[in-house]
Amino acid sequence: MNAATFKRLVLEGELRQAVASGQLRAYYQPKVRLADSVLVGAEALIRWLHPERGTISPNEFIPIAESSDLIVVLGNWMLETVCRQLSDWKQSGLILLPVAVNLAARHFHSLALADQLQQLLENYHLPPNGLELELTESTLLKGGTQPETTLRAIERLGIKLAVDDFGTGYSNLAYLKHLPLAALKIDQSFVRGLDDDANDRTLAATIIALGHQMDLLVVAEGVETEGQRRILLDQGCDIAQGFYFDQPMSAEAFAARWLKPANPLRPIAEGKP
Ligand code: C2E
Ligand code: MG
Ligand code: MG
Repeated sequence: MNAATFKRLVLEGELRQAVASGQLRAYYQPKVRLADSVLVGAEALIRWLHPERGTISPNEFIPIAESSDLIVVLGNWMLETVCRQLSDWKQSGLILLPVAVNLAARHFHSLALADQLQQLLENYHLPPNGLELELTESTLLKGGTQPETTLRAIERLGIKLAVDDFGTGYSNLAYLKHLPLAALKIDQSFVRGLDDDANDRTLAATIIALGHQMDLLVVAEGVETEGQRRILLDQGCDIAQGFYFDQPMSAEAFAARWLKPANPLRPIAEGKP
């Protein structure tokens, strides 16, 4: 066994224990409407608070988890944690906005995913538009023989679906166009160059036009500067997420910085993000 394989096995074992011993956290990063920076939702991002190594990035452990059923364990943990959090916020009288959870291909191998999601919403007394799912193009392609059926069942529940990291895969548009998607997220690699790379500006404008042609909301991720925000706004992008607006943060910090008391005259979480 080589050193890399050994390291992966150790990490996988530690990660299984991390779930049981409460070392995982859901962090929340705001999504805002580009025109006026009003909060329209959040993305939940997993964090591993390792007792010796500090916070470990999901980029380090998600790929390892994806090679086994562990990714399903983590995804289920995130779904449950986010629903419990939404329910807590609702009970504290805070306004509810859609929170997106990232799901990997293996989740879509199970035809029971839609039933599982429906059960979660019922258990926590949440409206279906409290939850959104983000999936990448490669997740869609690897999601088994029936991802389309599963996605349709999820859409019927009222849970919105977004394609993550758009533009980094093969972008099989003929396939994507048949899926019940609500939003497209422009990958941050295109956003990064917006200020000084004309090619990236052209690419972003093209993706935004394409998304709108497909009747999708377009979200830009990784927005870090006022210049990037301005260009995306001029190009007609709808929603943005990135350090320019705020970092991913703990549930407590997110509630304190971003969530407002619900207006009793206006029912919560009614509109599109
Ligand atoms: P993603 O879903 O595309 O999430 C966006 C990533 O960009 C997050 O990294 C976020 O912290 C980071 N980000 C946000 N704004 C900015 C910015 O302005 N500049 C830069 N440079 N980065 C920004 P994070 O949290 O490290 O997550 C990395 C990836 O790990 C995620 O990419 C997602 O693919 C995966 N991931 C995270 N949480 C989960 C999870 O619960 N389940 C699954 N299956 N994957 C997850
Ligand atoms: Mg995502
Ligand atoms: Mg992304």
